Amino acid sequence: MSKKLITLFFAISLLLFGFSLQRFILTYKFSTTEVVKNINYLSSDVFKGRLAGTLNNEAASVYIKSQFEKADIKPLFKTYYENFNVTYPEKIEGSPHLSVLDKNGIIIKNFEYNKDFKEDTLSFKQNHLSFSKVSSTAVGNDFLKIKSGNNICVLYAPADNKLSFRSSFDESSKLALIVVVKKDVLKTIKEYLEKDDSIDCFIPYKESNANIHNVVGYIKGRDQTLPPVIISAHFDHMGNDLSGNIYSGALDNASGTSFIIEMAKYINSLGTPDRNIIFAGFNAEEFGFKGSSTFAKDYSPKLKGSKVFNFDMIGGRSSIPLSIMGSKNDNKNTPLVKEISNICTSSDISYSYIFQNSSDHTPFRNLGIDAVTFCDDDTSRIHTTSDKSAFIDKTSIQKCYTVASKEILTSAFTKNPLVLYDKLILIFSGIGTGVCIIYIISLKFTKKKLN
Ligand SMILES: [Zn+2]
Repeated sequence: MSKKLITLFFAISLLLFGFSLQRFILTYKFSTTEVVKNINYLSSDVFKGRLAGTLNNEAASVYIKSQFEKADIKPLFKTYYENFNVTYPEKIEGSPHLSVLDKNGIIIKNFEYNKDFKEDTLSFKQNHLSFSKVSSTAVGNDFLKIKSGNNICVLYAPADNKLSFRSSFDESSKLALIVVVKKDVLKTIKEYLEKDDSIDCFIPYKESNANIHNVVGYIKGRDQTLPPVIISAHFDHMGNDLSGNIYSGALDNASGTSFIIEMAKYINSLGTPDRNIIFAGFNAEEFGFKGSSTFAKDYSPKLKGSKVFNFDMIGGRSSIPLSIMGSKNDNKNTPLVKEISNICTSSDISYSYIFQNSSDHTPFRNLGIDAVTFCDDDTSRIHTTSDKSAFIDKTSIQKCYTVASKEILTSAFTKNPLVLYDKLILIFSGIGTGVCIIYIISLKFTKKKLN
């Protein structure tokens, strides 16, 4: 090889090695420990279950905003907040009761809250219900359907006979009040009704309005004409019950929220992306994707050609495969779903598909925008008080990072091989530099010997 060629090879190797080493040192290393720290905090009693509409939910949004600021993510709008109105279940004065009254209106039995009965948080169009045998419009094995004025209310016993599951709230529910009862309680109530006694029930909640917000920031890309990449997670959860038991929502979805905060720190250390990367903490997902629907609608003119990567329940049991969730009209050949499954295969990470409209990818898919939710489909503790951070598995967070970061970088750093192939370039330029140094030393050594 000519001396010139060797010098050129050495110069290129050294330059590339220098660049990629500097990049490697400056790149923030995604840390599952940091993710877990944030999960611990967001699911702690400080935020009391982050129910949209409450001050605890507001406090969570303030915290997420502070984390975006710390990661040097700029506000997408004038502020980080995108405001919208929601109807939410608000606690009111009073104690819950479910009582049996005799023909004279005297209470002959009181059932115990949280042991015998509990609210189902689906709907509170009505919070007081009195009924007798005649007002029960339908009687099933495990339910009683009651006509109350123009409303329909329901008492039901869940299949697992537990009161622990807390439903998402749905302002459009056709039912006015739903009360969960134990199987034996339902049986007892039916017996009393047969004897012409009546039932009186009060659940101290009402439906109220509140102005809440999504928390949205972004990293500015080189080309403002390109559609942005969106990285999102909902931060709201189901609050706490009338005895103060907190639904911490560690997996659902302190985990996804903490994951995108860490992603923001990592991606922001990589330099300027080709296009804008938006980080969105969505609110009121548990009320039917209210926050993501607001964002998708308000921002839709700019979203044509965008890709949305949503994270909901990241850090479930490691034995569970990573789920790629598309909408109910998607399938495994939907382009974005396919791209991600290919990455799973090449990274040797087991995965499964879910095609459901059950997270914040839904409003985007409804507008024809590419969107998926990464999810650990670990439903064992979901919407119960045992969804605690102690059960979060770091291995699953790392798996999700491996897959998601590859797809996100490919989408947002298309023109930057130093980011896309950082490790390969570092290794090969390192080897090249090493070879050149050895070659130069050996040349000097032979020269000395000849002299
Ligand atoms: Zn969720």
